[in-house]
Amino acid sequence: MNAEQYQEIIEETAELLRRAAHPRKGTVSLSPETAALLERMGPGPAGASPRAGGSGDDGEGAEALEALAAEVSDCTKCDLCHSRTQTVFADGSPTADLVFVGEAPGHNEDQQGIPFVGRAGQLLTDIIVKGMKMRREDVYICNVLKCRPPENRDPSPEEKRQCESYLIRQVELVRPKVICALGGHAAKTLLQTDESTGRLRGKWHFYHGIPLRVTYHPAYLLRSPGEKRKTWDDVQEIMKVLSGEIAPKPPAGEQLL
Ligand code: URA
Repeated sequence: MNAEQYQEIIEETAELLRRAAHPRKGTVSLSPETAALLERMGPGPAGASPRAGGSGDDGEGAEALEALAAEVSDCTKCDLCHSRTQTVFADGSPTADLVFVGEAPGHNEDQQGIPFVGRAGQLLTDIIVKGMKMRREDVYICNVLKCRPPENRDPSPEEKRQCESYLIRQVELVRPKVICALGGHAAKTLLQTDESTGRLRGKWHFYHGIPLRVTYHPAYLLRSPGEKRKTWDDVQEIMKVLSGEIAPKPPAGEQLL
């Protein structure tokens, strides 16, 4: 099959799916066989997918994220640029429905240039893969800070302020359906509050109109495994948004990105 025929089939399928979609949730029901078939499908002939050609919104978002990552890699806004091995921009899909925001790179992340690759990262991956039944590469993972604070100290308010515009641009370009703030630094930065993670958990917040759930940082869960149950509850709520079962609405007047 050539690229043109493939594209035609994709467009016809998309139109059929649009017609079959649930009017409010925007979801369609699939048999397990069809879901398995779709999962096995490759990307198709080169150039057939709108993303492969770099055209369309998805491609533009990915390109803009790459440009932003390049900008971040040269950043000298704060002193962390002197001690970092490299910047740690993000991992995962530029079109993800779910964005995880952590605190700052640690030693392993600083070495590899990828967020959440140490022990806490392994737990986050388990939450995504085993708990949420998603693939790590299908979510988007980033941090409030793009550089490692020496000795893994807490990010300073000034460092968080200097780095925040990058995070805002990332969220704006990915435009997820839901954001999960991992721990106090992410939650407090995103929500501009001093409340504790414990008090922020268990309810919906909004970041520029996007539903946001706060949960414990995986590093904290490694130290306090008894709290994993609560993170499981948080993750269940997030999955309800992803499946369209619930659609938390921001209060009227909430600023959108
Ligand atoms: N902790 C974080 O907050 N981010 C990472 O990338 C790794 C550990």
